[in-house]
Amino acid sequence: MLELHLGPMTVCPTILYDKDSMVLVDTGMPGSAPAIRELIRQAGVGEIPLSSIILTHQDIDHIGGLPEFVPVEGQAPIVYAHKDDADAINGTEPMLKVTPERLASFLQPLPETVRMLFERTFLHPSRPNVDRLLADGEILPIAGGLTVIHTPGHTPGHVCLYHQPSKTLIAGDAMLAMDGKLKGPNPSATPHMEQALQSLKKLIAFDIETVICYHGGRIQGDVTHQIAALAGQL
Ligand SMILES: [Zn+2]
Repeated sequence: MLELHLGPMTVCPTILYDKDSMVLVDTGMPGSAPAIRELIRQAGVGEIPLSSIILTHQDIDHIGGLPEFVPVEGQAPIVYAHKDDADAINGTEPMLKVTPERLASFLQPLPETVRMLFERTFLHPSRPNVDRLLADGEILPIAGGLTVIHTPGHTPGHVCLYHQPSKTLIAGDAMLAMDGKLKGPNPSATPHMEQALQSLKKLIAFDIETVICYHGGRIQGDVTHQIAALAGQL
């Protein structure tokens, strides 16, 4: 788990790696890529090539850094996302929660090269940004097995990822971590809260010891009990 400080907000992209390849889950805000690369370097794994990027969903604080990870030439990482968010990530549909005005306010302070790269990637794309669509229940052959769990509600195509070898759930924004506890998703950013809480029921079946929330970081201990309580199953 990486801790990326974006002004007042801290977000937690996750990396999974072995000696040959690395996977990055979520990419921060527009312009975040250099800071993420620096965190990877500080973790001592900066030499390992980035082979894949998984986007848990379409929100700007998750996809914003993507353009700078995809070189115009040379070996690009494979980008994964669920089909129900892929159109927004590909720029063929508007992003669900970011108005053009708000997007402009994010982009305006950035260096022109970063801004242009973002616009070329998401606003006037010449090719799809998503290379592979994720399906509910599929186990990606990444880091010893990464199970995709479709958890709509926060966005239609939101996914959580379960890493079986470490019994870790990468929750994206399906839950928040606050004061050492798991909380439901942020109400102001979750258009379908009822569905989002229904989605949490799917997580109870997994043997989870650690949850990484993109907002709030790592929670360990009685996490399954906490998830069941949030899903109204206790
Ligand atoms: Zn988020």
